[in-house]
Amino acid sequence: MAIVLDGKKLSEKSEEELKLRVSKIKEKTGVTPILATILVGDNPASATYVKMKGNACNRIGMESLKIELSENTSTNELIEEIKKLNINKNVHGILLQHPVPNHIDERKCFDEIDINKDVDGVTTSGFGKMSMQEKAFGSCTPYGIMRLLDEYEVELEGKLAVVVGRSPILGKPMAMMLLNRNCTVIICHSKTKELENIIKEADIIVGAVGIPKFIKGNWIRDNSIVIDAGYHPEKCGDIELENVADRSMAYTPVPGGVGPMTINTLILQTIESCEASLK
Ligand code: NAP
Repeated sequence: MAIVLDGKKLSEKSEEELKLRVSKIKEKTGVTPILATILVGDNPASATYVKMKGNACNRIGMESLKIELSENTSTNELIEEIKKLNINKNVHGILLQHPVPNHIDERKCFDEIDINKDVDGVTTSGFGKMSMQEKAFGSCTPYGIMRLLDEYEVELEGKLAVVVGRSPILGKPMAMMLLNRNCTVIICHSKTKELENIIKEADIIVGAVGIPKFIKGNWIRDNSIVIDAGYHPEKCGDIELENVADRSMAYTPVPGGVGPMTINTLILQTIESCEASLK
């Protein structure tokens, strides 16, 4: 019987713990953890994600500070907003919703975020520290996946993990986190040759491609651990899950697997940032 890596269930359980943590902070210090969210432009999917993150803050008793900027905001104007949030003592976490409009230098803006408030784990220095196994906030989607694997006590050491996708917010940090847990890691991307044959060898397969059902069920061998980070309007992910879930060792459903863990991890790290600022 395959284990369902149920991100919805774990995130709901975690929310109960986080509610208590927030009420303790408020009771002891009078401080409410605040997550600042920056949304640039009017991409409807991004607006929905920001709204969901704000709602999660509300459910837990935190606050969100919503900053909405127009589509034609320049890189410098966005950096100025980030700098204001960096020095705002009431703000504990900063989320710049990805993707920003094409004319903006997203990397430059991410790297302006104070590493102590980088609760989405997007800065270059945060990635470097995490890779070197130093203390840093993890990139939320891959770190959420690691939390899910740990919750279900999935053994990782020595396994061959194939991560399909190498984006700075997902594929690359995912590969590093698995490497740091003693997996043997292969990272695949759009120029990879013989992708199907590489995937056929995998003990752990992570789909982080952004193309619906791109990874076919028959590329994945029996008893593997199947992680699908993709989410598409058709309510499917990047893996053809229906042809593999039953014969896997463990898999993340779509929806209800990776997605809820991403938001939960953002909230968790904002609370950690708040607690650290009070020490
Ligand atoms: P991205 O920045 O577009 O990166 C996609 C990656 O897939 C790139 O590295 C690209 O390779 C690779 N790729 C594209 N076509 C490929 C092909 N034919 N063969 C092999 N690799 C290929 O996307 P992302 O932001 O990492 O997101 C990936 C997926 O995760 C999306 O479905 C997104 O919706 C989802 N996601 C979910 C969450 C969540 O909370 N659940 C959060 C973030 C993202 P190159 O580098 O060579 O271009």
